[in-house]
Amino acid sequence: MDTAILSGLDASKALYKSLEDRINYLKDKNITPGLAAVLVGNNPASEIYVRNKTKKFDSLGLKTNLFRLDENVSEKELLSLIQDLNSNNDFHGILLQLPLPKHVNSENVLNAIDPTKDVDGFHPENAGLLSIGKPRFIPCTPKGIIYILKHFNIDLNGKHVVVIGRSNIVGRPISILTSLKKIGNATVTLCHSGTKDLKFFSKQADILIAALGSPEFVDASYIKEGACLVDVGINRVERNGKSKIVGDIDQESVLGKASSLTPVPKGVGPMTIAMLVENTVLSAELLLN
Ligand code: NDP
Repeated sequence: MDTAILSGLDASKALYKSLEDRINYLKDKNITPGLAAVLVGNNPASEIYVRNKTKKFDSLGLKTNLFRLDENVSEKELLSLIQDLNSNNDFHGILLQLPLPKHVNSENVLNAIDPTKDVDGFHPENAGLLSIGKPRFIPCTPKGIIYILKHFNIDLNGKHVVVIGRSNIVGRPISILTSLKKIGNATVTLCHSGTKDLKFFSKQADILIAALGSPEFVDASYIKEGACLVDVGINRVERNGKSKIVGDIDQESVLGKASSLTPVPKGVGPMTIAMLVENTVLSAELLLN
């Protein structure tokens, strides 16, 4: 069987194209969607993530400002910056790049973000809206997974989706989204480290979403013939003395057995950034309603 590669670059290009009219409409109304990105400390991975995100906003003519804070910033100072950004009308979205330094309680800071500017969709109010089937801001990675599947006409309706991983940013929200009648209408199984006999479940998946953070963990023995595979993992590993990024799926091993597969890199990753842009545009649009 040929395994189709579901390119996140192609899907994200389609999304950016569809945003052009929405952005122009807002600009005609003198609204430029704006993102405030908050980066604490000098974590090299966080630096790259934030740079990639703000670069994309710049390239689309959207407003973006990076607020850099020292590693030793106090929680009080960080909360005060969030309050300022909450009331700053130039910014429709606030991105708090995680992880934060250990002395700061991340939950306190995330919960201080105005839920109407929470374009990452991590605030309990937005998580609650999603879980009752009335999503406002959907976390970017799960939202991007739904987009890429729809883009490549992969129908979820009535299918069995198996998710490996139950984090609040990927696994749990994608399990909710795929189960919602209006979005996926799939039958969903959510697996995690407490799952006994993971293969028993993963081999039943029509669509398997791997978000466990373990390099190349899922190989051909975990899947059934013809499954669609979504690889969310971003893991840096050393191979032959070189550093490289691999997913949670052993991509080589599943080629020929899976019907389709999101690659790593250039699969789910670009969709996550695209959905941050989409959520920020959406936030600006909500002001008009
Ligand atoms: P977390 O570490 O927060 O969660 C991992 C989940 O996987 C947990 O629920 C854990 O179970 C479960 N798990 C871990 N090992 C196993 C196992 N052997 N069998 C079954 N379940 C297991 O990770 P994230 O959700 O934040 O990220 C997952 C991966 O996705 C990472 O590689 C991350 O880098 C990547 N990622 C990629 C993004 C993108 O844009 N492409 C965005 C965000 C993340 P338990 O709850 O019991 O601990």
